[in-house]
Amino acid sequence: MIDNSLITLNENAVENNIAFLKKKLGNKVKISAVVKANAYGHGIEQVVPLFEKNEIEHYSVFYYSEAIRVFDSLSKPATIMVMGWLCETSIRGAITRGIEFFVFNIERLNIAIKYAKELNLKAKIHLEAETGMNRSGLNTTELKNAIAIIKENVDYIEIAGFCTHLAGAESVSNHVRIQSQLKKYKKMLATLEANNLIPRYKHVANSAAAFVYPKARMDLVRIGIMLYGFWSSSEVYVQYINHKSNKIDPLKRILGWHSHIMAIKKVKSGEFIGYGISYLAQTDITTALIPVGYSFGYSRSLSNKGRVLIGGQRRSVIGVVNMNMIIVDISHVNDVKVGDEVVLIGKQGDLEIKVSAFSEISDELNYEILAHLSESIVRKVIKN
Ligand SMILES: *Cc1c(COP(=O)(O)O)cnc(C)c1O
Repeated sequence: MIDNSLITLNENAVENNIAFLKKKLGNKVKISAVVKANAYGHGIEQVVPLFEKNEIEHYSVFYYSEAIRVFDSLSKPATIMVMGWLCETSIRGAITRGIEFFVFNIERLNIAIKYAKELNLKAKIHLEAETGMNRSGLNTTELKNAIAIIKENVDYIEIAGFCTHLAGAESVSNHVRIQSQLKKYKKMLATLEANNLIPRYKHVANSAAAFVYPKARMDLVRIGIMLYGFWSSSEVYVQYINHKSNKIDPLKRILGWHSHIMAIKKVKSGEFIGYGISYLAQTDITTALIPVGYSFGYSRSLSNKGRVLIGGQRRSVIGVVNMNMIIVDISHVNDVKVGDEVVLIGKQGDLEIKVSAFSEISDELNYEILAHLSESIVRKVIKN
């Protein structure tokens, strides 16, 4: 752990977001909390216990190693679903631990059966259908092959789910493609069920689809970004809030990130600051050095553009973002001293630096900025 900065996780915000999602989705729709990419940068080990406190009993990850981290963070049994990559040994491990996983080709189905037989257990699989995203999934012919194989191995396979992923529900420009995906999914589901193979959960929706296409909720939704207090895109947010008389965002951000001033310096007018010549002091200025850089997830694209909060005021990053440091202009901020708090993401007084402000400046998605937050930053759970 490196103590250059601290990520705080607001427990009340977690409670707020889950309560909002449960109210909107109703009690017939199960929420699978997506905690891939270190819980969108928040920290799997810190977030899982908070979700667990709020009765989340289903978790989705991409890698098997993340599944194990979730498994180890739980205090009571819950379902864990691997949507992405597992090597052969991991498939064996997953079956042993009752961890569920996506099956998107025949090779993986055969490997699952091989180890289920060896272990004399059932592999709990989610059959993933290719419905038009053209990324992963069984096409119609492969699904029929899979059905034949499963029917011969009913003692070794449990169909925990039948699923697909939609190609961009957060943007209205994908509407037609998504409608066609939903239609194809229904058709493939009918084929499966006509063979008396009934999946426990039917699921296709991420956060955006759960809100933009209510029909896509089926009986489980895979919610990531909204749990952390963000809308998938401004389009999804505007569509939601447009119909409300009260225009207050019902979601609350969980994550804050702060650091401290490491050194203060006066620089004369006409001098370049930092590497190269990207920043030229136009007057005599005072700078503060902050011990956080791109190796911790403070993107290089915020060079000469980022904003932080110091002394209750918004201040600009000047020069390029270094591997471990940024320089901030603190001219005209009174009474600032070494050790003072610097807010990189979150609130100070009445002001707030939002992750979305980062992404507007740098062209990165909220998702990307969160996922880049280094795992070595200390995380601390706070209340409010
Ligand atoms: C990441 C992911 C999700 C969650 O998406 P959000 O937009 O964060 O809700 C759902 N399903 C799959 C397959 C994913 O990879």
